Parts: sequence; C-alpha cells; structure tokens
Amino acid sequence: MMKKNKVKECPCGRIITDPKNKTGLCPRCQKKANAAGAGVGILAFGVGVKKYGGKILEGAIDIARKIK
Ligand SMILES: [Zn+2]
Repeated sequence: MMKKNKVKECPCGRIITDPKNKTGLCPRCQKKANAAGAGVGILAFGVGVKKYGGKILEGAIDIARKIK
C-alpha cells in the first residue's frame, strides 16, 4: 500500500491545497468559522450578561448616565 501524502481535508470535504493552511479549514469554512467565532463571542457575552446580570448592566447604564 502506498501512503499518500497527508492530505488536509476540511470538515466540509474540500481538500485544502494551501500547504500553509494551519486551521484545517478551507477558505470558505474559515470565513464561516470566523463568523461563527464572532457569534459565539457575542453569545458568550450575552450569557455573561445573563449570569452576572443586572449588576454589569446597571453599572453600564450608570456610567452611560454619568457620561450624559
Ligand atoms: Zn470547508
């Protein structure tokens, strides 16, 4: 059996031709991943706000009022 060179393959099935690619994602998925990452960040922020809830929000509103 001949061993092929390790072919990087994106989870979507595309073969990654860029040898410098370190993410293991094709450019398309990388964009998606970036968008998803941003989404997760926003989500995490939302969860944080829910968890630590009002206090941070109240504080922020307080600050906003002071600035105004
Ligand atoms: Zn992909």
